[in-house]
Amino acid sequence: MKVKVLTNIMNANDQLAERNRELFDKNNILVINIMASPGAGKTSTIMQTIANLRDECNIAVIEGDLASTIDADKIGKEGIDVVQINTGGACHLDANMIENALSDFDLSKIDLLFIENVGNLVCPAGFKLGEDKRVIISSVPEGHDKPHKYPSIFVDADAVILNKYDMAEVFEYDTKDFESTVNGLCPSAPVIKISCKTGEGVSGWIDWLRTELAKKKA
Ligand code: MG
Ligand code: ZN
Repeated sequence: MKVKVLTNIMNANDQLAERNRELFDKNNILVINIMASPGAGKTSTIMQTIANLRDECNIAVIEGDLASTIDADKIGKEGIDVVQINTGGACHLDANMIENALSDFDLSKIDLLFIENVGNLVCPAGFKLGEDKRVIISSVPEGHDKPHKYPSIFVDADAVILNKYDMAEVFEYDTKDFESTVNGLCPSAPVIKISCKTGEGVSGWIDWLRTELAKKKA
């Protein structure tokens, strides 16, 4: 019985996600669903991206958190259109929450929309939002074993960012193990090593986004 209920919820979510996707396609918006554990650097990566790409395209952000507007406030201060979703207790965003948030944007003016999911490596992977691409951020202090322990979120990744890479030596981080595990789970996803703090490697991420933006416009 429980399985049936869950299947119905997922089907309803998929239908809503499809509707969001049609809206994004109609407006030529590249939509990136960013997933990571708390503190991996989702907001920092978005802030770095804004600094690097804001002269080339119009960026908007949906922030997902259980509570607070801390991250939305940071992004809003940059003059970027941002909507904060507070899930109340839910540990992931779903397509219905995104649909509700979209009414606060002028979609015709957006080229690139980031959806920062709730910090969690488990269930966000199960809920489609209508995004084009799924980007997983892992960070050095979390340890290189995360893809071993939480494989399901890495399986459907379009790109994997390894953040705080400036700390790799201090943490004796096993980059090879991380890269080979991610590669085994999802061979098509590039692993992009960056440091939001020093800016090191960020250009690789920006190049990946530029390519995806061009594909979406084509
Ligand atoms: Mg954040
Ligand atoms: Zn959840």
